[in-house]
Amino acid sequence: MGKLSDLIFSATNFVANKIQRPAVILLYHRVTDLSADPQELAVSPANFDAQLQHLQSSYNVLDADRFLHYVKAGKPFPERSVLVTFDDGYADNYLEALPIMTQRATPALFYITTSKLNTSKEQWWDDLERVLLTGRPLPAALSITINGVAHHFNTATAATTRDAYYDLQAILRFCAPDVIDQAMQYLYTWAGCDGEGRPTHRMMTFDELKAMAASKYVRIGCHTHRHPAVGMLPYAQQLQEIGQSKEILESLLQERMQHFSYPFGGRKFLGSKRYYNADSIKACRELGLEMVCANYYGQVHTWSNPFALPRILVRDWPADVFRQKMERFFKL
Ligand SMILES: [Zn+2]
Repeated sequence: MGKLSDLIFSATNFVANKIQRPAVILLYHRVTDLSADPQELAVSPANFDAQLQHLQSSYNVLDADRFLHYVKAGKPFPERSVLVTFDDGYADNYLEALPIMTQRATPALFYITTSKLNTSKEQWWDDLERVLLTGRPLPAALSITINGVAHHFNTATAATTRDAYYDLQAILRFCAPDVIDQAMQYLYTWAGCDGEGRPTHRMMTFDELKAMAASKYVRIGCHTHRHPAVGMLPYAQQLQEIGQSKEILESLLQERMQHFSYPFGGRKFLGSKRYYNADSIKACRELGLEMVCANYYGQVHTWSNPFALPRILVRDWPADVFRQKMERFFKL
């Protein structure tokens, strides 16, 4: 967004938050220490602990059931309400985040993408990092055809390979799951590696997910089967991707799924490339989902669309930065 639209957006939020006290939904992905994190998805356990401590002392952290109750009732939230959510289903959610949440008695809602649960495979954006950015010797150039378009990258140095990684990431996030799988297979051959993932980047096992779901601090929601930008898919495929994750989770956990979040989920789009659209909302309704989160900056009010609620991405912020950000989130 440009400077002027930023200003208008902030002013609009400020006025909305003056009219009605807002609630804020926080979005996390991982809680762990990583040696490299090009997507900035991980919060360190120490920072996560400090963040939860601050939330417990200064905010009203609702669990997913209470949050859903206010969304469905169309009632204003209690003062300074916060919902903590996680996307994707990384193993560290169970191994590192849950013990801290339990210690701090803080509930959270975990949206799980199902295709790589219980496997050693990585999500494709991590896999792309593993192939390109973990120091293996690579050919000096990469030519790859994606959706019929030929792309050429210089992979002769660490800096150019890093650029190639970010470019490929931006291209693949708008591709259908089969196209992403084909591109990754091509890259394995090109780089001379296989599809075996790193233990540091795996998803939960079925047993870990079941143990997680049994915690009184945890609610589970779905996040598609293969993590496509659903807005790029025809309605039938959206229904299939969202429905498959819902079915797998319901049969594994023996509980009904009420929650869903859009993969990527930004409201911004490039031309015809969208993370979600009216068909996505229709598919969620059709599947009986009750609350759906997106991933664009904003606060939740009684007039917010329950099928595209805004969320605010939390980075690896130390306590003082997190405190300032939270104050701002409740105003702007
Ligand atoms: Zn995701």
